[in-house]
Amino acid sequence: AGIITYGAKLVEKYGLKQISTGDLFRKAIKEETKFGVIAKYFISFGYLVPDDFTIQMIQEYLEENINTEEFKNGFILDGFPRTIIQARKLADICSMFNFKIDAVINLDIPEDVLVKRLSGRRTCADCGKSYHIVYNPPKKEGVCDVCGGELILRDDDKAETVKKRLDVYHEQTAPLIAHYKEAGSLHEIDGTQDIKVVFEEIKSILG
Ligand code: AMP
Repeated sequence: AGIITYGAKLVEKYGLKQISTGDLFRKAIKEETKFGVIAKYFISFGYLVPDDFTIQMIQEYLEENINTEEFKNGFILDGFPRTIIQARKLADICSMFNFKIDAVINLDIPEDVLVKRLSGRRTCADCGKSYHIVYNPPKKEGVCDVCGGELILRDDDKAETVKKRLDVYHEQTAPLIAHYKEAGSLHEIDGTQDIKVVFEEIKSILG
């Protein structure tokens, strides 16, 4: 959840493109594409979208976009991979598209803090920009600063669903920490620190 805050800053500083599988799914749901119909069901219950669909979606996205100008300085994958199978597939995708992973960053945030952050998050129903009612409020309550859209609490940010997402995280995503530690590319950052401190640490990792 945390990298979204930093993604925009990294886009600005390094000209990196940000790819969020969560955003791609939300867009697909809105446009009612084949991925959208499947994703909606899983996301609303706090489950991961099955690996096959997720991998197919990101692969199609890269095929269409990787040679565009926006990608020439590299990119940040936000929310992907989330399972060991996705991580293995990502390694294949790297060789397929001829890029390499420079760093894997784990923003470590205790569960109670995370629940507070997610339950206070509000997302623009139109453009997808995230806010937080306390830490990053919009200028006008309930209204997106950028596009004037309505700010909503995402179904999957509701308390019961967040709990389910945490169970899913422990079961399916947490094993990635050991996986990337072994590969030697893992960097861990204390995500409870001030946003500025976290961003400085991310910058020093990226060099
Ligand atoms: P996010 O915005 O990253 O929190 O993603 C929202 C929801 O989309 C997640 O709770 C999952 O249901 C789904 N999702 C996003 N990325 C992935 C992924 N890499 N694999 C499976 N499901 C995903």
